[in-house]
Amino acid sequence: MNKAVWFRNDLRTIDHPALSSALCSKNRVFGFYIYTPKQLEQHHVGKVKRHFILQNVVCLKNELQNIGIPLVIVRGKTYADSVKKLEKLCKTHHINEVFANTELELNEKKRDTLAEQALAKTHTQIKWFNDQTLLPPGTIMTDKGSPFRVFSPFKKSWLKQIESQSISPLPKPRKPNQNIEPDLEEQDILKWEPSQPQNDYWKPGSKEAFKRLRLFLKEHANDYHTERDIPSKASTSQLSPYLSIGAISVRSCFYAAFQANEYRWDFGSQGLLTWINELIWREFYKNLTHFNPNLCKGDAFQSKTSLIPWSRNEFILNAWKAGETGYPLVDAGMRQLNETGWMHNRLRMVTAMFLTKHLFINWRMGEKYFMEMLIDADFSANNGGWQWCASTGADAAPYFRIFNPERQSQRFDPQGEYIRFWVSELANIPNANIHNPTENQRIKCHYPPPIVNHKEATQRTKEAFQSIRLLEAP
Ligand code: FAD
Repeated sequence: MNKAVWFRNDLRTIDHPALSSALCSKNRVFGFYIYTPKQLEQHHVGKVKRHFILQNVVCLKNELQNIGIPLVIVRGKTYADSVKKLEKLCKTHHINEVFANTELELNEKKRDTLAEQALAKTHTQIKWFNDQTLLPPGTIMTDKGSPFRVFSPFKKSWLKQIESQSISPLPKPRKPNQNIEPDLEEQDILKWEPSQPQNDYWKPGSKEAFKRLRLFLKEHANDYHTERDIPSKASTSQLSPYLSIGAISVRSCFYAAFQANEYRWDFGSQGLLTWINELIWREFYKNLTHFNPNLCKGDAFQSKTSLIPWSRNEFILNAWKAGETGYPLVDAGMRQLNETGWMHNRLRMVTAMFLTKHLFINWRMGEKYFMEMLIDADFSANNGGWQWCASTGADAAPYFRIFNPERQSQRFDPQGEYIRFWVSELANIPNANIHNPTENQRIKCHYPPPIVNHKEATQRTKEAFQSIRLLEAP
Protein backbone atom coordinates (compact mmCIF):
# COMPACT_ATOMS: atom_id res chain seq x y z
CA MET A 1 0.00 0.00 0.00
CA ASN A 2 1.06 3.61 -0.65
CA LYS A 3 0.99 6.86 1.33
CA ALA A 4 -0.29 10.25 0.20
CA VAL A 5 0.30 13.81 1.31
CA TRP A 6 -2.81 15.94 0.83
CA PHE A 7 -1.52 19.47 0.07
CA ARG A 8 -3.90 22.36 0.73
CA ASN A 9 -2.68 25.62 2.24
CA ASP A 10 0.92 24.44 2.49
CA LEU A 11 2.33 24.59 -1.04
CA ARG A 12 5.98 23.75 -0.36
CA THR A 13 8.32 20.88 0.43
CA ILE A 14 10.64 22.65 2.90
CA ASP A 15 9.64 22.39 6.57
CA HIS A 16 6.41 20.58 5.77
CA PRO A 17 5.36 18.45 8.77
CA ALA A 18 2.96 16.14 6.88
CA LEU A 19 5.41 15.51 4.03
CA SER A 20 8.34 14.89 6.40
CA SER A 21 6.34 12.35 8.32
CA ALA A 22 5.08 10.58 5.18
CA LEU A 23 8.66 10.26 3.97
CA CYS A 24 9.66 8.39 7.12
CA SER A 25 7.90 5.29 5.84
CA LYS A 26 9.39 3.00 3.17
CA ASN A 27 6.19 2.97 1.11
CA ARG A 28 5.68 4.85 -2.11
CA VAL A 29 4.50 8.45 -1.51
CA PHE A 30 2.10 10.45 -3.71
CA GLY A 31 1.16 14.10 -3.41
CA PHE A 32 -2.47 15.13 -4.00
CA TYR A 33 -3.77 18.61 -4.68
CA ILE A 34 -7.49 19.21 -5.20
CA TYR A 35 -8.33 22.63 -6.58
CA THR A 36 -11.80 23.91 -5.54
CA PRO A 37 -12.47 27.24 -7.32
CA LYS A 38 -16.13 27.42 -6.36
CA GLN A 39 -15.27 27.11 -2.67
CA LEU A 40 -12.61 29.80 -3.02
CA GLU A 41 -15.20 32.06 -4.64
CA GLN A 42 -17.61 31.39 -1.79
CA HIS A 43 -14.84 32.54 0.56
CA HIS A 44 -14.47 35.65 -1.64
CA VAL A 45 -10.93 34.76 -2.67
CA GLY A 46 -10.35 36.81 -5.81
CA LYS A 47 -8.80 36.10 -9.20
CA VAL A 48 -5.34 37.41 -8.30
CA LYS A 49 -4.89 35.05 -5.40
CA ARG A 50 -6.52 32.16 -7.26
CA HIS A 51 -4.01 32.47 -10.09
CA PHE A 52 -1.19 32.79 -7.55
CA ILE A 53 -2.32 29.57 -5.88
CA LEU A 54 -2.16 27.70 -9.18
CA GLN A 55 1.25 29.15 -10.02
CA ASN A 56 2.46 27.89 -6.65
CA VAL A 57 0.90 24.47 -7.23
CA VAL A 58 3.00 24.24 -10.41
CA CYS A 59 6.12 25.20 -8.40
CA LEU A 60 5.21 22.58 -5.80
CA LYS A 61 4.85 19.96 -8.52
CA ASN A 62 8.36 20.75 -9.73
CA GLU A 63 9.79 20.77 -6.19
CA LEU A 64 8.20 17.38 -5.51
CA GLN A 65 9.43 16.03 -8.81
CA ASN A 66 12.99 16.86 -7.72
CA ILE A 67 12.55 14.57 -4.73
CA GLY A 68 10.86 11.84 -6.76
CA ILE A 69 7.25 12.41 -5.65
CA PRO A 70 4.44 12.76 -8.20
CA LEU A 71 1.85 15.44 -7.49
CA VAL A 72 -1.58 14.45 -8.75
CA ILE A 73 -3.60 17.60 -9.38
CA VAL A 74 -7.36 17.45 -9.88
CA ARG A 75 -10.14 19.97 -10.00
CA GLY A 76 -13.36 19.88 -8.00
CA LYS A 77 -15.84 22.60 -7.17
CA THR A 78 -16.47 22.81 -3.46
CA TYR A 79 -15.01 21.16 -0.37
CA ALA A 80 -17.77 18.52 -0.49
CA ASP A 81 -16.43 17.67 -3.92
CA SER A 82 -12.87 17.56 -2.70
CA VAL A 83 -13.74 14.83 -0.22
CA LYS A 84 -15.16 12.68 -3.03
CA LYS A 85 -12.10 13.37 -5.17
CA LEU A 86 -9.83 12.43 -2.29
CA GLU A 87 -11.65 9.11 -1.82
CA LYS A 88 -11.25 8.37 -5.51
CA LEU A 89 -7.57 9.29 -5.57
CA CYS A 90 -6.89 7.05 -2.58
CA LYS A 91 -8.63 4.17 -4.31
CA THR A 92 -6.82 4.67 -7.63
CA HIS A 93 -3.38 4.96 -6.04
CA HIS A 94 -3.86 2.27 -3.38
CA ILE A 95 -3.41 4.62 -0.45
CA ASN A 96 -3.94 3.42 3.11
CA GLU A 97 -2.60 6.46 4.93
CA VAL A 98 -3.00 10.17 4.17
CA PHE A 99 -0.82 12.86 5.76
CA ALA A 100 -2.09 16.44 5.97
CA ASN A 101 -1.55 19.70 7.83
CA THR A 102 -4.60 21.05 9.65
CA GLU A 103 -6.42 24.26 8.81
CA LEU A 104 -8.26 26.41 11.30
CA GLU A 105 -11.25 27.95 9.53
CA LEU A 106 -14.77 26.58 9.93
CA ASN A 107 -15.45 25.12 6.47
CA GLU A 108 -11.93 23.71 6.27
CA LYS A 109 -12.43 21.92 9.60
CA LYS A 110 -15.80 20.56 8.43
CA ARG A 111 -14.19 19.30 5.20
CA ASP A 112 -11.48 17.54 7.16
CA THR A 113 -13.97 15.82 9.46
CA LEU A 114 -15.95 14.65 6.41
CA ALA A 115 -12.76 13.40 4.74
CA GLU A 116 -11.77 11.50 7.87
CA GLN A 117 -15.21 9.84 8.06
CA ALA A 118 -15.29 9.00 4.34
CA LEU A 119 -11.81 7.45 4.30
CA ALA A 120 -12.43 5.51 7.52
CA LYS A 121 -14.96 3.40 5.57
CA THR A 122 -12.05 1.96 3.57
CA HIS A 123 -9.77 1.80 6.62
CA THR A 124 -7.70 4.69 5.32
CA GLN A 125 -6.43 6.90 8.09
CA ILE A 126 -5.60 10.61 7.98
CA LYS A 127 -2.70 11.74 10.13
CA TRP A 128 -2.89 15.43 11.05
CA PHE A 129 -0.07 17.88 11.76
CA ASN A 130 0.03 21.45 13.00
CA ASP A 131 1.41 23.93 10.49
CA GLN A 132 -0.63 27.15 10.39
CA THR A 133 0.93 28.46 13.58
CA LEU A 134 4.25 27.85 15.28
CA LEU A 135 2.67 26.85 18.60
CA PRO A 136 -0.46 24.74 18.04
CA PRO A 137 -3.74 26.50 18.88
CA GLY A 138 -4.82 25.47 22.34
CA THR A 139 -1.31 25.49 23.80
CA ILE A 140 -1.48 29.17 24.74
CA MET A 141 -4.30 29.53 27.26
CA THR A 142 -5.05 31.69 30.29
CA ASP A 143 -4.55 30.30 33.83
CA LYS A 144 -8.26 29.51 33.80
CA GLY A 145 -7.83 27.40 30.66
CA SER A 146 -9.68 29.75 28.33
CA PRO A 147 -8.36 31.35 25.13
CA PHE A 148 -6.84 34.83 25.35
CA ARG A 149 -8.92 37.76 24.13
CA VAL A 150 -6.15 40.34 24.52
CA PHE A 151 -2.88 40.35 22.57
CA SER A 152 -0.33 41.42 25.25
CA PRO A 153 -0.92 38.57 27.72
CA PHE A 154 -1.18 36.15 24.78
CA LYS A 155 2.23 37.31 23.60
CA LYS A 156 3.71 37.07 27.10
CA SER A 157 2.49 33.51 27.48
CA TRP A 158 3.57 32.65 23.91
CA LEU A 159 7.12 33.89 24.61
CA LYS A 160 7.26 31.95 27.87
CA GLN A 161 6.36 28.74 26.05
CA ILE A 162 8.69 29.27 23.15
CA GLU A 163 11.64 29.86 25.49
CA SER A 164 11.33 26.28 26.65
CA GLN A 165 11.18 24.78 23.16
CA SER A 166 13.54 24.04 20.33
CA ILE A 167 11.97 25.24 17.11
CA SER A 168 14.39 24.44 14.31
CA PRO A 169 12.76 23.72 10.94
CA LEU A 170 12.50 20.11 9.77
CA PRO A 171 15.38 18.61 7.75
CA LYS A 172 15.16 18.93 3.94
CA PRO A 173 13.14 16.04 2.48
CA ARG A 174 15.30 13.29 0.98
CA LYS A 175 14.78 11.75 -2.43
CA PRO A 176 12.90 8.45 -2.47
CA ASN A 177 13.53 6.08 -5.34
CA GLN A 178 10.36 6.55 -7.38
CA ASN A 179 9.49 6.89 -11.05
CA ILE A 180 7.09 9.65 -11.98
CA GLU A 181 4.50 9.15 -14.67
CA PRO A 182 3.67 12.23 -16.77
CA ASP A 183 0.57 14.04 -15.65
CA LEU A 184 -1.24 17.34 -16.28
CA GLU A 185 0.95 19.91 -18.04
CA GLU A 186 1.82 23.19 -16.35
CA GLN A 187 -0.07 25.18 -18.99
CA ASP A 188 -3.22 23.10 -18.48
CA ILE A 189 -3.29 23.90 -14.77
CA LEU A 190 -2.69 27.61 -15.24
CA LYS A 191 -5.56 27.78 -17.72
CA TRP A 192 -7.96 27.12 -14.86
CA GLU A 193 -7.57 30.73 -13.74
CA PRO A 194 -6.36 33.49 -16.09
CA SER A 195 -3.38 35.55 -14.95
CA GLN A 196 -4.19 39.10 -13.76
CA PRO A 197 -1.94 42.13 -14.25
CA GLN A 198 -1.39 42.19 -10.47
CA ASN A 199 0.29 38.78 -10.64
CA ASP A 200 3.24 40.37 -12.49
CA TYR A 201 4.36 41.87 -9.17
CA TRP A 202 4.66 38.49 -7.47
CA LYS A 203 6.91 35.62 -8.54
CA PRO A 204 5.55 32.32 -7.26
CA GLY A 205 7.34 29.60 -5.32
CA SER A 206 9.20 28.78 -2.12
CA LYS A 207 12.51 29.81 -3.66
CA GLU A 208 11.19 33.32 -4.14
CA ALA A 209 9.83 33.34 -0.57
CA PHE A 210 13.21 32.38 0.89
CA LYS A 211 14.92 34.94 -1.32
CA ARG A 212 12.64 37.63 0.11
CA LEU A 213 13.22 36.41 3.65
CA ARG A 214 17.01 36.55 3.23
CA LEU A 215 16.88 39.97 1.60
CA PHE A 216 14.61 41.34 4.34
CA LEU A 217 16.85 40.02 7.12
CA LYS A 218 19.97 41.41 5.46
CA GLU A 219 18.70 44.83 4.43
CA HIS A 220 15.64 45.84 6.43
CA ALA A 221 15.03 43.76 9.55
CA ASN A 222 17.25 45.75 11.91
CA ASP A 223 15.44 49.00 11.06
CA TYR A 224 11.98 47.42 10.85
CA HIS A 225 10.76 49.08 14.09
CA THR A 226 11.32 52.56 12.64
CA GLU A 227 10.77 51.95 8.90
CA ARG A 228 7.77 49.60 8.88
CA ASP A 229 5.28 52.45 9.00
CA ILE A 230 6.68 54.39 6.03
CA PRO A 231 4.64 53.22 3.05
CA SER A 232 6.91 54.81 0.43
CA LYS A 233 9.72 52.46 1.52
CA ALA A 234 9.64 48.75 0.72
CA SER A 235 11.00 48.01 4.17
CA THR A 236 8.69 45.21 5.27
CA SER A 237 9.25 41.62 4.19
CA GLN A 238 6.35 41.38 1.68
CA LEU A 239 6.17 37.72 2.61
CA SER A 240 2.43 37.72 3.32
CA PRO A 241 1.39 36.28 -0.08
CA TYR A 242 3.77 33.35 0.47
CA LEU A 243 2.74 32.79 4.09
CA SER A 244 -0.92 32.90 3.14
CA ILE A 245 -0.59 29.88 0.83
CA GLY A 246 2.17 28.16 2.76
CA ALA A 247 4.92 28.59 0.16
CA ILE A 248 7.02 29.25 3.27
CA SER A 249 6.24 28.08 6.80
CA VAL A 250 5.76 30.48 9.65
CA ARG A 251 8.32 28.39 11.56
CA SER A 252 10.95 29.15 8.88
CA CYS A 253 10.21 32.87 9.35
CA PHE A 254 10.29 32.75 13.15
CA TYR A 255 13.44 30.65 13.13
CA ALA A 256 15.26 32.90 10.68
CA ALA A 257 14.48 35.95 12.85
CA PHE A 258 15.43 34.10 16.05
CA GLN A 259 18.72 33.02 14.49
CA ALA A 260 19.43 36.53 13.16
CA ASN A 261 18.74 37.83 16.67
CA GLU A 262 21.44 35.51 18.07
CA TYR A 263 18.91 33.01 19.42
CA ARG A 264 17.07 35.46 21.65
CA TRP A 265 13.31 36.03 21.82
CA ASP A 266 13.00 38.94 24.22
CA PHE A 267 16.01 41.18 23.74
CA GLY A 268 18.51 42.07 21.04
CA SER A 269 17.73 43.85 17.76
CA GLN A 270 14.70 46.11 18.20
CA GLY A 271 13.87 45.66 14.52
CA LEU A 272 13.90 41.87 14.67
CA LEU A 273 11.90 41.84 17.91
CA THR A 274 9.25 44.07 16.31
CA TRP A 275 9.05 41.72 13.32
CA ILE A 276 8.68 38.73 15.65
CA ASN A 277 5.91 40.69 17.39
CA GLU A 278 4.00 40.92 14.07
CA LEU A 279 4.36 37.19 13.52
CA ILE A 280 2.92 36.68 17.01
CA TRP A 281 -0.07 38.87 15.99
CA ARG A 282 -0.53 36.36 13.18
CA GLU A 283 -0.55 33.55 15.76
CA PHE A 284 -3.05 35.48 17.90
CA TYR A 285 -5.52 35.95 15.03
CA LYS A 286 -5.22 32.28 13.99
CA ASN A 287 -6.05 31.31 17.58
CA LEU A 288 -9.10 33.60 17.53
CA THR A 289 -10.36 31.85 14.38
CA HIS A 290 -9.79 28.44 15.92
CA PHE A 291 -11.67 29.24 19.12
CA ASN A 292 -14.42 31.40 17.59
CA PRO A 293 -15.83 29.54 14.59
CA ASN A 294 -18.66 32.08 14.27
CA LEU A 295 -16.13 34.65 13.06
CA CYS A 296 -16.14 32.65 9.81
CA LYS A 297 -19.91 33.21 9.59
CA GLY A 298 -19.51 36.98 9.72
CA ASP A 299 -20.13 37.51 13.44
CA ALA A 300 -18.52 40.43 15.23
CA PHE A 301 -16.23 39.31 18.04
CA GLN A 302 -17.96 41.76 20.41
CA SER A 303 -21.56 40.72 19.90
CA LYS A 304 -22.98 44.00 21.25
CA THR A 305 -21.57 45.81 18.23
CA SER A 306 -24.07 43.97 16.01
CA LEU A 307 -26.44 46.76 17.07
CA ILE A 308 -24.44 49.36 15.14
CA PRO A 309 -26.63 50.51 12.22
CA TRP A 310 -23.80 50.38 9.64
CA SER A 311 -24.49 51.87 6.23
CA ARG A 312 -24.42 49.82 3.03
CA ASN A 313 -24.27 52.83 0.70
CA GLU A 314 -22.94 51.34 -2.56
CA PHE A 315 -22.07 54.71 -4.10
CA ILE A 316 -19.78 55.62 -1.22
CA LEU A 317 -18.38 52.09 -1.03
CA ASN A 318 -17.50 52.22 -4.73
CA ALA A 319 -15.71 55.56 -4.36
CA TRP A 320 -13.63 54.02 -1.57
CA LYS A 321 -12.89 50.92 -3.66
CA ALA A 322 -11.78 53.00 -6.63
CA GLY A 323 -9.57 55.31 -4.54
CA GLU A 324 -11.76 58.33 -5.29
CA THR A 325 -12.61 59.61 -1.80
CA GLY A 326 -10.74 62.89 -2.10
CA TYR A 327 -8.52 61.91 0.86
CA PRO A 328 -5.11 61.48 -0.84
CA LEU A 329 -3.57 58.94 1.54
CA VAL A 330 -6.70 56.75 1.56
CA ASP A 331 -6.91 56.88 -2.23
CA ALA A 332 -3.22 56.04 -2.60
CA GLY A 333 -3.68 52.92 -0.46
CA MET A 334 -6.72 51.72 -2.40
CA ARG A 335 -4.97 52.28 -5.71
CA GLN A 336 -1.91 50.34 -4.53
CA LEU A 337 -4.27 47.48 -3.66
CA ASN A 338 -6.09 47.62 -6.99
CA GLU A 339 -2.88 47.73 -9.01
CA THR A 340 -0.66 45.29 -7.15
CA GLY A 341 -2.95 43.03 -5.09
CA TRP A 342 -1.13 44.12 -1.93
CA MET A 343 -1.31 47.09 0.41
CA HIS A 344 1.12 48.36 3.04
CA ASN A 345 -0.03 47.58 6.60
CA ARG A 346 -0.27 51.24 7.65
CA LEU A 347 -2.57 51.84 4.71
CA ARG A 348 -4.68 48.78 5.48
CA MET A 349 -5.35 50.35 8.87
CA VAL A 350 -5.97 53.83 7.44
CA THR A 351 -8.30 52.69 4.65
CA ALA A 352 -10.22 50.22 6.82
CA MET A 353 -10.70 52.77 9.57
CA PHE A 354 -11.77 55.35 7.01
CA LEU A 355 -14.39 53.03 5.52
CA THR A 356 -15.83 52.12 8.91
CA LYS A 357 -15.39 55.29 10.94
CA HIS A 358 -15.68 58.06 8.34
CA LEU A 359 -17.96 56.44 5.77
CA PHE A 360 -19.71 54.33 8.42
CA ILE A 361 -19.91 51.38 6.00
CA ASN A 362 -20.33 47.90 7.37
CA TRP A 363 -16.84 46.47 7.98
CA ARG A 364 -17.91 43.17 6.38
CA MET A 365 -18.13 44.94 3.01
CA GLY A 366 -14.54 46.16 3.33
CA GLU A 367 -13.40 42.78 4.59
CA LYS A 368 -14.97 41.16 1.51
CA TYR A 369 -13.34 43.64 -0.87
CA PHE A 370 -9.92 43.01 0.67
CA MET A 371 -10.45 39.23 0.38
CA GLU A 372 -11.34 39.69 -3.29
CA MET A 373 -8.38 41.91 -4.09
CA LEU A 374 -5.50 40.83 -1.85
CA ILE A 375 -2.97 38.33 -3.13
CA ASP A 376 -2.23 37.58 0.53
CA ALA A 377 -5.92 37.19 1.47
CA ASP A 378 -5.96 35.30 4.75
CA PHE A 379 -9.20 34.94 6.67
CA SER A 380 -7.73 35.27 10.18
CA ALA A 381 -5.45 38.25 9.53
CA ASN A 382 -8.04 40.01 7.39
CA ASN A 383 -10.94 39.48 9.76
CA GLY A 384 -8.71 40.37 12.72
CA GLY A 385 -7.50 43.54 10.98
CA TRP A 386 -10.99 44.64 9.96
CA GLN A 387 -12.52 44.00 13.34
CA TRP A 388 -9.62 45.83 14.98
CA CYS A 389 -10.24 48.90 12.80
CA ALA A 390 -14.03 48.73 13.18
CA SER A 391 -13.71 48.43 17.01
CA THR A 392 -15.80 45.27 16.94
CA GLY A 393 -12.96 42.78 17.48
CA ALA A 394 -10.91 41.24 20.26
CA ASP A 395 -8.44 43.75 21.64
CA ALA A 396 -9.69 46.24 19.02
CA ALA A 397 -8.96 49.95 18.61
CA PRO A 398 -11.19 51.94 21.01
CA TYR A 399 -14.16 53.33 19.06
CA PHE A 400 -13.29 56.94 19.90
CA ARG A 401 -9.67 56.74 18.70
CA ILE A 402 -10.19 57.42 15.01
CA PHE A 403 -7.27 58.01 12.65
CA ASN A 404 -7.34 61.41 11.01
CA PRO A 405 -6.21 60.57 7.43
CA GLU A 406 -4.62 63.98 6.92
CA ARG A 407 -2.55 63.63 10.08
CA GLN A 408 -1.64 60.03 9.25
CA SER A 409 -0.44 61.32 5.92
CA GLN A 410 1.66 64.12 7.46
CA ARG A 411 3.17 61.64 9.89
CA PHE A 412 3.90 58.63 7.68
CA ASP A 413 4.25 60.18 4.22
CA PRO A 414 5.57 63.66 5.10
CA GLN A 415 6.97 64.41 1.64
CA GLY A 416 3.96 62.85 -0.08
CA GLU A 417 6.13 60.35 -2.02
CA TYR A 418 3.70 57.50 -1.58
CA ILE A 419 0.71 59.65 -2.48
CA ARG A 420 2.36 61.06 -5.60
CA PHE A 421 3.32 57.59 -6.78
CA TRP A 422 -0.18 56.11 -6.54
CA VAL A 423 -2.36 59.18 -7.10
CA SER A 424 -0.56 60.42 -10.17
CA GLU A 425 -2.92 63.36 -10.76
CA LEU A 426 -1.46 64.90 -7.57
CA ALA A 427 2.15 64.46 -8.73
CA ASN A 428 2.77 68.22 -9.02
CA ILE A 429 1.04 69.37 -5.85
CA PRO A 430 3.55 71.03 -3.48
CA ASN A 431 4.41 69.39 -0.16
CA ALA A 432 2.43 71.97 1.79
CA ASN A 433 -0.85 70.81 0.20
CA ILE A 434 -0.22 67.20 -0.74
CA HIS A 435 -2.08 65.86 2.29
CA ASN A 436 -5.16 67.98 1.58
CA PRO A 437 -5.06 69.90 -1.73
CA THR A 438 -6.97 73.17 -2.03
CA GLU A 439 -10.28 73.34 -3.90
CA ASN A 440 -8.58 75.02 -6.87
CA GLN A 441 -5.80 72.44 -7.01
CA ARG A 442 -8.37 69.64 -6.94
CA ILE A 443 -10.31 71.16 -9.81
CA LYS A 444 -7.15 71.63 -11.89
CA CYS A 445 -5.97 68.04 -11.25
CA HIS A 446 -9.42 66.50 -11.71
CA TYR A 447 -9.16 65.18 -8.17
CA PRO A 448 -12.45 64.89 -6.22
CA PRO A 449 -13.37 66.97 -3.16
CA PRO A 450 -13.34 65.14 0.20
CA ILE A 451 -16.25 62.70 0.20
CA VAL A 452 -17.10 63.52 3.84
CA ASN A 453 -16.12 66.09 6.41
CA HIS A 454 -13.70 64.50 8.90
CA LYS A 455 -15.17 66.06 12.04
CA GLU A 456 -18.84 65.53 11.21
CA ALA A 457 -18.36 61.99 9.95
CA THR A 458 -16.37 60.82 12.95
CA GLN A 459 -18.78 62.49 15.38
CA ARG A 460 -21.65 60.45 13.91
CA THR A 461 -19.68 57.22 14.38
CA LYS A 462 -18.77 58.04 17.97
CA GLU A 463 -22.43 58.72 18.73
CA ALA A 464 -23.46 55.38 17.21
CA PHE A 465 -20.96 53.54 19.41
CA GLN A 466 -21.97 55.58 22.47
CA SER A 467 -25.62 54.69 21.92
CA ILE A 468 -24.90 50.95 22.06
CA ARG A 469 -22.88 51.50 25.22
CA LEU A 470 -25.98 53.12 26.73
CA LEU A 471 -27.99 50.04 25.76
CA GLU A 472 -25.58 47.79 27.64
CA ALA A 473 -26.72 46.38 30.96
CA PRO A 474 -25.07 48.25 33.85
P1 FAD B 1 5.69 42.18 7.60
O1 FAD B 1 5.55 43.50 8.25
O2 FAD B 1 6.99 41.84 7.01
O3 FAD B 1 5.28 41.07 8.69
C1 FAD B 1 5.65 39.69 8.52
C2 FAD B 1 4.44 38.80 8.53
O4 FAD B 1 3.76 38.89 9.78
C3 FAD B 1 3.39 39.15 7.49
O5 FAD B 1 3.72 38.62 6.23
C4 FAD B 1 2.14 38.53 8.09
O6 FAD B 1 2.05 37.16 7.84
C5 FAD B 1 2.37 38.74 9.58
N1 FAD B 1 1.70 39.97 10.02
C6 FAD B 1 2.20 41.21 10.02
N2 FAD B 1 1.32 42.08 10.54
C7 FAD B 1 0.23 41.36 10.87
C8 FAD B 1 -1.02 41.68 11.45
N3 FAD B 1 -1.34 42.93 11.82
N4 FAD B 1 -1.91 40.69 11.63
C9 FAD B 1 -1.62 39.41 11.30
N5 FAD B 1 -0.46 39.06 10.74
C10 FAD B 1 0.46 40.00 10.54
N6 FAD B 1 -2.39 40.07 6.44
C11 FAD B 1 -2.48 38.99 5.64
O7 FAD B 1 -1.52 38.21 5.57
N7 FAD B 1 -3.61 38.76 4.91
C12 FAD B 1 -4.68 39.59 4.95
O8 FAD B 1 -5.70 39.31 4.31
C13 FAD B 1 -4.60 40.75 5.77
N8 FAD B 1 -5.62 41.64 5.82
C14 FAD B 1 -5.51 42.75 6.64
C15 FAD B 1 -6.60 43.65 6.72
C16 FAD B 1 -6.52 44.75 7.54
C17 FAD B 1 -7.71 45.71 7.62
C18 FAD B 1 -5.36 44.99 8.30
C19 FAD B 1 -5.26 46.20 9.20
C20 FAD B 1 -4.30 44.10 8.25
C21 FAD B 1 -4.35 42.98 7.42
N9 FAD B 1 -3.28 42.06 7.34
C22 FAD B 1 -3.40 40.96 6.52
C23 FAD B 1 -2.09 42.21 8.21
C24 FAD B 1 -0.91 42.99 7.60
O9 FAD B 1 -1.34 44.18 7.05
C25 FAD B 1 -0.15 42.19 6.54
O10 FAD B 1 0.15 40.91 7.03
C26 FAD B 1 1.17 42.87 6.17
O11 FAD B 1 0.93 44.17 5.69
C27 FAD B 1 1.87 42.06 5.12
O12 FAD B 1 3.03 42.68 4.71
P2 FAD B 1 4.46 42.03 4.98
O13 FAD B 1 4.45 40.60 4.56
O14 FAD B 1 5.47 42.91 4.40
O15 FAD B 1 4.49 42.05 6.57
